[in-house]
Amino acid sequence: MQQFQASMLKLIIETSTNLPSDVRKAVMKARLEEEMGNRSSLALDTIAENIVMAQEEEAPICQDTGMPTFHLHVPVGANQIVMKKQIYAAIEEATKMGKLRPNSVDSLTGVNSGNNLGPGTPVIHFEQWERDDIEVQLILKGGGCENKNIQYALPTELDGLGKAGRDLDGIRKCILHAVYQAQGQGCSAGFIGVGIGGDRTSGYTLAKDQLFRRTDDVNPIPELAKLEEYVMETANQLGVGTMGFGGKVSLLGCKIGVMNRLPASFYVSVAYNCWAFRRLGVVLDASSGEIREWQFQESVEAFDLTKNAGETDSDDTRTVVLQAPISEEQVRDLKVGDVVIINGEMHTGRDAFHKYMIEPEHTSPVDLSGGVIYHCGPVMLKDQQGEWHVKAAGPTTSSREEPYQADIIKKFGLRAVIGKGGMGPKTLKGLQEHGAVYLNAIGGAAQYYARCVKKVNGVDFLEFGIPEAMWHLQVEGFAAIVTMDAHGNSLHADIDNQSLRKLSDFAEKVF
Ligand code: SF4
Repeated sequence: MQQFQASMLKLIIETSTNLPSDVRKAVMKARLEEEMGNRSSLALDTIAENIVMAQEEEAPICQDTGMPTFHLHVPVGANQIVMKKQIYAAIEEATKMGKLRPNSVDSLTGVNSGNNLGPGTPVIHFEQWERDDIEVQLILKGGGCENKNIQYALPTELDGLGKAGRDLDGIRKCILHAVYQAQGQGCSAGFIGVGIGGDRTSGYTLAKDQLFRRTDDVNPIPELAKLEEYVMETANQLGVGTMGFGGKVSLLGCKIGVMNRLPASFYVSVAYNCWAFRRLGVVLDASSGEIREWQFQESVEAFDLTKNAGETDSDDTRTVVLQAPISEEQVRDLKVGDVVIINGEMHTGRDAFHKYMIEPEHTSPVDLSGGVIYHCGPVMLKDQQGEWHVKAAGPTTSSREEPYQADIIKKFGLRAVIGKGGMGPKTLKGLQEHGAVYLNAIGGAAQYYARCVKKVNGVDFLEFGIPEAMWHLQVEGFAAIVTMDAHGNSLHADIDNQSLRKLSDFAEKVF
């Protein structure tokens, strides 16, 4: 097994940087189905460009490289202790190489281990089989979509859909509700794995296991095959769209599994995965550990994402170029739907930054008046001269900063907040009162945005860990869409209301 560690490193790098062929096919199909020139179609174009860039540069597709979760099938007698150690070593190496972001954080102290190792990280499941080779499958599922997983205990009452009972129709309602509740926050359009039955733990495991199925397979259980088909058709009528911008494509894949349950429990568990659906597999020679075969990677060329989906210029979209720092007048001129191109300096700030800055005695290490805060936890690498370089830098989910954002805008005189998924009423009010905007960048487009960073001007709060530090980034041509303006308008609230109304059209019994 001399090659096992090297094979694991290859698997990790490939999974982080090269999207599987069935996922590419689903993204390509979405581009063809989405209305040309609308906000979702522009977002899909950026996503497609980002996928190609990540592959060409062998760089992370998204900066959130997620929780590495390995599923291994091994022959009887295989040494699982050695394999585990070698997987740990490969994870550490991939992190050093900037292919994985350091993502393992002590839940009590908040300290990042820096190497993606720690209690519970990575997740490794072993199962024995009667074959004489080894299969290793890996999924890298990020936090934004992980936060949109949901578990229902039937019977229950659901927004828009009413009562969901302990039957196939109740399951149907839960799945549609799961897509609705995710909105754009899990970087839609997404894929869902559904687990019916089990207990709370095994139900979620079953749901996540469904994500290891090919998106184009056919469920062997006829009722579930029918339900999968129904969900794909119906969920795409909800109008959530890519990134929650509204549109025809909200869901790219739905796979449903079932297991027995206790008489008293009836769980429907849903694992939501963003468009950056990174899962690959390898079959290894059990004596050398060498890779014999790749899974989920066939015929990538057939789905060439560089091909233009069509003419995407829209007459309704206004593009505004802004140089940071930004004035209040410039910000108040912006309206929901405008595309903004930012040049100049912006500063990353996410959970640790906001929690720290909200304290009255804490001041900013740099002048933030007229400034731009970017909700982003980048992948960074330092070269031998001590210079930092951005390896991946897409937006993170903004809603986590909802308790702080309006006060931070006021305290420091910020004019723009960039993130993904939108924010709530408190921030919307703050934008209106203090003259600022929320800009939605395209979630997961980590290479696309990394290319906009021309220089790293500096860093503060490195003690919070690389993703949480305050990076001062010089950007050029950084594009995002105004989804919350300084006039009280929120595209996120509008799409949520519209999709809830649409959801209620599907309240009648179908199965
Ligand atoms: S694409 Fe979005 S949800 Fe997926 S890992 Fe990246 S930031 Fe998280």
